[in-house]
Amino acid sequence: MFHNFLDCPSGMRITRTDREPGLGPEGVAYPQCKQCQAWDDEIERSRIALHEWLESE
Ligand SMILES: [Zn+2]
Repeated sequence: MFHNFLDCPSGMRITRTDREPGLGPEGVAYPQCKQCQAWDDEIERSRIALHEWLESE
């Protein structure tokens, strides 16, 4: 499991010594944390909304 948000609540529970370099060169070594994935989706959706708004001008 990996986190790409530093403020992810479950990511913050991982103590420093428990951390391992989880990501391989492709970034696919571990599945993404569900919370981080949800935030990713949310960011993607607002990016798309922003672009649609910009293009409608
Ligand atoms: Zn996370």
